[in-house]
Amino acid sequence: APRKLAAGNWKMNGNLAALAEIDVLVAAYPAPGCEILICPPALLIHPAKARADDVIAIGGQDCHDQASGAHTGDIAAAQLRDAGATYVILGHSERRAGHGETDATVAAKATAAHAAGLVAIICLGETEAQRDAGETLDVIAAQLHGSIPAGATAANTVIAYEPVWAIGTGRTPTTDQIAEVHALMRDRLEGKVADAAEVRLLYGGSVKPGNASEIFAIPHVDGALVGGASLKAADFEPIIAAL
Ligand code: 13P
Repeated sequence: APRKLAAGNWKMNGNLAALAEIDVLVAAYPAPGCEILICPPALLIHPAKARADDVIAIGGQDCHDQASGAHTGDIAAAQLRDAGATYVILGHSERRAGHGETDATVAAKATAAHAAGLVAIICLGETEAQRDAGETLDVIAAQLHGSIPAGATAANTVIAYEPVWAIGTGRTPTTDQIAEVHALMRDRLEGKVADAAEVRLLYGGSVKPGNASEIFAIPHVDGALVGGASLKAADFEPIIAAL
């Protein structure tokens, strides 16, 4: 079975002082039983890496699909790697919605991430309207097919199921709904990725200390991608412990 992953996405939150939360996690989990990842804003990656003490992995939240060049304001995958990142979140719904990223954009960025030696965490998720229309499984299958590039392996790719309506809302799908989507993702990875059974599948969307154990017991859930509850070590620690 793949090694479980507890990933925190700080989004556009935090500052240098907030890196003290990483010190608390390092002290609490000197030899964690699962992999722990924090994805802070890009400016904090380098100082976060220094604090993470090789106990906690550090990742970016986006990268460009080109290796370098005239792309004002963007960050190349190799620059994330140079700063100490080993992961990058790609295709988060906030980037798909706020920056017009398509499945093709995400796949191109994932190829760039792989070329730079980063593990790509590729995010998929239906909107509430899509779920209400009964389109969830079709949406996820299409996003998975279009967002995962050639060359993806269990070593360089993680998939995160993040229903858009569950992000930051305190609402979560039922265990049956999560199980249904994760089983579909595992199934559709066959034929697309050689070692499909080993690809880690994360759930994200209002994961909290109070619901983590129930979510982690669902088949094909290999960890979580946590937003709000990753900002404070006191909230993230019980989620890590539940893995
Ligand atoms: P919340 O945990 O704040 O709902 O955010 C989930 C998320 O979008 C992680 O990428």
